[in-house]
Amino acid sequence: MGIELESADVARLREALTGTVYVRGDEGLAAEVACFNPAISHDPDIVVAVASEGDVTEAVRFARDLGLPVRVQSTGHGAEAPIIGGMIVSTRGLDQLSIDAENRLARIGAGVRWAPVIVAAAEHGLAPITGSSTSVGAVGYSLGGGIGPLARRYGFTADWVRGFRVVTADGSVVVADHDTNPELFWALRGGKGGLGVVTEMLLELVALRSLYGGSVFFEGDAIEPALRAWIDWSADLPDEATTSVVLLDVPDMEGPPPPLRGRSVVSVRFAYPGDPVEGERLFAPIRAAAPVYLDFVAEMPATAVASIHNDPEEGGPTWIRGLMLDSFDQDAGDVILELAGPGSGSPFLAAEIRQLGGATARDPEDGTSVGGRDSAYTLSLLAGDPSTFAEAAPARARAIAEALGDRVSAITNVNFAGDLADRAAFEKVWPPAVFDRLEAARSQWDPEKVFAFGPA
Ligand SMILES: Cc1cc2nc3c(=O)[nH]c(=O)nc-3n(C[C@H](O)[C@H](O)[C@H](O)COP(=O)(O)OP(=O)(O)OC[C@H]3O[C@@H](n4cnc5c(N)ncnc54)[C@H](O)[C@@H]3O)c2cc1C
Repeated sequence: MGIELESADVARLREALTGTVYVRGDEGLAAEVACFNPAISHDPDIVVAVASEGDVTEAVRFARDLGLPVRVQSTGHGAEAPIIGGMIVSTRGLDQLSIDAENRLARIGAGVRWAPVIVAAAEHGLAPITGSSTSVGAVGYSLGGGIGPLARRYGFTADWVRGFRVVTADGSVVVADHDTNPELFWALRGGKGGLGVVTEMLLELVALRSLYGGSVFFEGDAIEPALRAWIDWSADLPDEATTSVVLLDVPDMEGPPPPLRGRSVVSVRFAYPGDPVEGERLFAPIRAAAPVYLDFVAEMPATAVASIHNDPEEGGPTWIRGLMLDSFDQDAGDVILELAGPGSGSPFLAAEIRQLGGATARDPEDGTSVGGRDSAYTLSLLAGDPSTFAEAAPARARAIAEALGDRVSAITNVNFAGDLADRAAFEKVWPPAVFDRLEAARSQWDPEKVFAFGPA
């Protein structure tokens, strides 16, 4: 598939850019658009690895004039399906980052991952509200909302975004914030795609040097009592504390810490950005629930936030399905243990439940388009064996969703939903009124659908 681009057109584009242009067959193209999930490889007609905002403008105008659909990629963590044909604007080169400590703001280029933002902010006793993995791109993550290890205390990361610079479908550069283009600002805080290429994001930081948190692991007979204790304990946690639980079937291979390799475990994660003595008191019932196998919960610097979930830095082949839940009770615990627990024959490496609520349920003053705000939990199912991706993993995920019944929320969130190619799945990513308002914003800012997003 794909089209034959005129070499004179490509030469003109190369001339106009400081970044690099790759067309199908060029060495370096595959590396530029490599995905975190190596089971996915893109095959676009052309890739523009931009080095400046001006490059983005040139690339978008070029694509619009030739009728090439444009997609944006930074780290490739969000790739759920191969991109075939069209243009990929690769934003990795937009790596500018600066901190305005006085106003607690970070100016973050579209190619910047969370890790350097955390380090730069910490020099001033500040922290961004990030996700579980700090190798995820800050902009791509925030455009979908962003549910992280401190979510119940601080909300979605999109709630902390104070502005964007955006290249729109006609190649012009606009600002979107509280005062300028407020509807575009609303749409970008949760609406993710089909609106433009964000070149820069202004993010408010919080004053946070340390927190009480980390993860504990239970194995063998301790798994079930630990999960059951988590269900009741988390239901009464104060909003300042955030927690999640994950059933893990850890492969026996290089990568995971040696004590976990080849074992089935359940891990309870915890983050309390307050007095560590109070944090320890709040977490005590989990430590008392069953014999703890490994305990990494302690006072920690805010810079160690990635150690709460311990997401892998290197991606392997994965199949992932995310749902949101309105409730998670002991009967739901039965479902998870029977269909995804040890000895269940489950194809999943991980079945993770994150508790929401607290600040995630409160839309900030300006409003955002974040999906899933009314949900109480997320459920993510992740398989790692490619032989299960076509049938076993989707079938087991369907069985889990059916068994959870009306606990499954009507709406999910774009960062958790997985492949958006299916219209029914795409429409469930936002509440109906938000979905319609987003479609209106996309029609206004991209009337000719230059930016490909969602189902074809
Ligand atoms: C290991 C891992 C951990 C994760 N943890 C969390 C988590 O804790 N919480 C959470 O909410 N999500 C989480 N996610 C999901 C993640 O937030 C999304 O996959 C997000 O889209 C990744 O953004 P990216 O820029 O890194 O990825 P990319 O694949 O580079 O981009 C993903 C999408 O974002 C959009 N995009 C990116 N940059 C731009 C831009 N400059 N302008 C316009 N659109 C853009 C595009 O639609 C693109 O397809 C995780 C994913 C992984 C793989």
